Amino acid sequence: MNYIISLGTNMGDKKKNLEKAIDSLNNIPYTDVIKASSIYETEPVGYLRQDNFYNIIIEVKSQFEPHEMLGICLGIESGIGRIRGIKNGPRIIDLDIIFAEDKKIKTKNLIVPHPRYNERNFILTPLLEIYSNGEYCGINFKKYINDVKNQKIKTADKILV
Ligand code: ADP
Ligand code: MG
Repeated sequence: MNYIISLGTNMGDKKKNLEKAIDSLNNIPYTDVIKASSIYETEPVGYLRQDNFYNIIIEVKSQFEPHEMLGICLGIESGIGRIRGIKNGPRIIDLDIIFAEDKKIKTKNLIVPHPRYNERNFILTPLLEIYSNGEYCGINFKKYINDVKNQKIKTADKILV
């Protein structure tokens, strides 16, 4: 199964946090990061009194099923030192599953496609960078981009995968 995963961080050495998360995914058996967008710098959403974020979108190929992949993502967050505080507050690393190919999942712990991906420029702009035709596995995400153009975003750095 191929996944689109969104990574975000606004604490400590942000580039290093993203690199650690990508390395951790690659260290999981039968799991490889096969694509990555540039790193983007974005302003916080919701709770504004916090540092800007670094965001990146990656594509991961894995033998694990979606609920297992969620467990992997939450485990990597803990491993890097994430402690959950205020909602939308500062975080050392956040891994969200955006797409699991074209699968639709709605359980207590996991909703895919991610329920708010279409409202976030920090997801849509990097996604369009790596899928320039504006769709992923038949999901047209480009149609949402005009509605998020007011959310500031700029390229900040690059990671080699
Ligand atoms: P957020 O990412 O919304 O800021 P958290 O990272 O604290 O919040 O995640 C809270 C919970 O969201 C997770 O424990 C997980 O069970 C749930 N969740 C539901 N759908 C997804 C998804 N597509 N990707 C990641 N987490 C998800
Ligand atoms: Mg999350």
